[in-house]
Parts: sequence; structure tokens; C-alpha cells
Amino acid sequence: MPSNSSPEPGFARDAFVLPRAPGGGDAVYLAGNSLGAQPRAARRAVLVAVDDQWGAVGVAGWEECGWWATPQRLGDRVGALVGAAPGQVVVGDSTSVQLFGALIAAARLRPGRSVLLSDAGHFPTDRYLASSVARLTGLTLATGTPDALAPDGDTAVVAVPAVDFRTGERWDLAAITARAHTAGAVVVADLSHAVGAMPVALDDLVIDLAVGCTYKYLNGGPGAPAFAYVAARHHDVLDPPLTGWTGHADPFGMTEDWTPAPGVGRLRVGTPPMLSMLALDGALDVFAGVDLAAVRAASLALGDAFLAALPEGVEVVTPREPARRGGHVAVRVSDAEGLRAALAHRGVVVDARPPDLLRFGFAAPYVTLDDARTAARELAALLG
Ligand SMILES: *Cc1c(COP(=O)(O)O)cnc(C)c1O
Repeated sequence: MPSNSSPEPGFARDAFVLPRAPGGGDAVYLAGNSLGAQPRAARRAVLVAVDDQWGAVGVAGWEECGWWATPQRLGDRVGALVGAAPGQVVVGDSTSVQLFGALIAAARLRPGRSVLLSDAGHFPTDRYLASSVARLTGLTLATGTPDALAPDGDTAVVAVPAVDFRTGERWDLAAITARAHTAGAVVVADLSHAVGAMPVALDDLVIDLAVGCTYKYLNGGPGAPAFAYVAARHHDVLDPPLTGWTGHADPFGMTEDWTPAPGVGRLRVGTPPMLSMLALDGALDVFAGVDLAAVRAASLALGDAFLAALPEGVEVVTPREPARRGGHVAVRVSDAEGLRAALAHRGVVVDARPPDLLRFGFAAPYVTLDDARTAARELAALLG
């Protein structure tokens, strides 16, 4: 069997450049749920793009280097990691922009309905955008915890994350989607904390639209372009709000009116940011031939090792049950920011989320079992 068919935690560590610890050597980098570590292949891809593409051929690169087709080509690469058959995913813009487009396009799939149902604890940008989209579309925004949402015949859209960004709780997208579909609503899933951390089966789950980050567990780099998924069954009628020229059926026809490109290409908006796109292209090489179920198993093993090494009395807000955990584990502490800084000083990089959470991200490609135990030990030492 190829060695990567059942990877150990840290199986691709050599493929990454890790930040330096203050005392020298590599940091224990557990912030991959915020910004993934740098894949060496991403760095190389940017250097190639700068020197051998942009520098060498200039504007001809749009055709000669395949730049123009990159949003859909990368979309298919990301799609393969989230259970989407080719032609349903496009890469570009930020998750926030993609969400705006996805929520409005979803609302337009259900004219005559009056409610946008969303996670009360959703990531701030998702909550802020849901509120604005509700005002723009005339929908009423109603919120609750994802597994308690009760869509009915008035519900147009159900918008939920795969994993809670604070607590690391993983939601049951299959059950949420089934309830939404029984009520005739469409689902917009935010996969930011799932993609690259665990298998996601968008087509099998019959999810309608989805968006997600590529700079967390996909390691695409700071501000790497996000992705959007639209199930093929919606393509013909999909009416996105951001009708940019690159989503036109004939962008270089420069016609008077906007005619949507066939398929998911209509979600393209403006000129794609090629340096960021190609960094992501390189970053995705880490996942080539890697079984995400095995990545997930390795990530859970890291979380288990961390939890087992934590002293009694530390309040863990993430469910301990593996099936209900995402890629990170969060603990409640009294001085989250102070502890984050103290851990960083000791070479353990995590993040703090107000008011009182520390998040430990277990990105299996580059985090080892030793790293997980070191983090627990250092936290224990600081807590006294
Ligand atoms: C990280 C994250 C985002 C980030 O959105 P950006 O537009 O990339 O800043 C959005 N939603 C969720 C659920 C996230 O976890």
C-alpha cells in the first residue's frame, strides 16, 4: 500500500515550512484552523508564477499559462476534496464575498418564501452577511443552533457551518439538510472549518450551495481565494447577484447585457488574483493521493492525544465524542489572550477567541503526536 493511504499525524511535515519558535527550531504550529502552515509547493508555485509566467510572458499568460481557466480548474481540485463531481466548484474572492453571492442566489431559488434560517453562533461574517442579505431580499432572519433549526414551508434558505468556529463542534449536515429539504428549503453550508480537515460529501449530502476558505486546513496562504459550490441541478436557474464580466458567457464579447456563463462559471466576478490562485494550486499538492478519511482519523488521534494529556479541571468546550468534533479543540480559560501570548513565547502557536477560548488546531499533514502532547504540557505548566 502507498504510505499515504493511512497517514500518521505529521505525515507530510517535510512538505511544509513551519514558523520559527522564539527559542529556535520549528514552532509547534496549532493555528492551522486560522492560517495553515506554508507548503513548500505553494512557495515554489508562486516563484514560478512570478518568474516563468508573469515575468516571462506578461499578458499572454492568460491563455498560454492557463490563467483564465484557473478558477474552474482549481474549483475541480477543491471539489474533489469536498465530494463534488467536476464542474460545480469555482475558486475566487473571499469567503465573505462568496457567501453574499451564495445566500442571495439561494434566496432567489425560493421566491415567495419569507425566512432565512441561520446558525445563531455562526462566524461573524456569516452572521453579518445573513443580516444584510435578509434586508436586501426582504427575508426575515431567524437564528438558532444548527441542530435545533426547524425549517418549515416559509423557510427559503438554511445557512449553517459544518463546524462551529469557536467550540469546534461538528454539526450533522446530513440531518440538517434532510430537514431543510423536507420543508422545501435550500441549504447553504459554510465548510471553512471542514475542507481539508475531514471528508465532506457535498454531492451525496445533496447540499445545494456551499462556500469555504482555502487558507485554513488547505494551507493556501494568507487571504487565499475561497471556493463556492453549486449543485449541478441548480445551474440552469442560478441567478447570482454579482454579475461581473468574468462570469459572462462571452466575457470578451463585451456585450451590452450580462448573459450568464453556463454552469458554475457564472459565479466568477472579476479578474482572478493569479498569484494567490497559484499559491493555492501548489498548496493542494499536499492532498494529492491522500485519503481524507485517513487525514480525519489522524486529526482525531491528535485531538485525543491532546485531551488525554490535559490536566483534570481544564474546561474543554469541544465535545469529546470524536464524531462531534471538528479539526480543533477549544478550552475555556480566564485569560485567553495572555495564555496565547505565553504559549507563543514557549514555541506553541495557537489562537485566542474572545471572550475566553483558546483554540488548538490539529492539521494532520504537519502536526505530530509529540506536538499535541507538548501543547497540552505547556498549557498545563502555564495554568500551574
Ligand atoms: C474563517 C471563516 C470565514 C472567513 O471569511 P473571509 O471572508 O475569508 O475572511 C468565514 N466563515 C467561516 C465559517 C469561517 O470559519
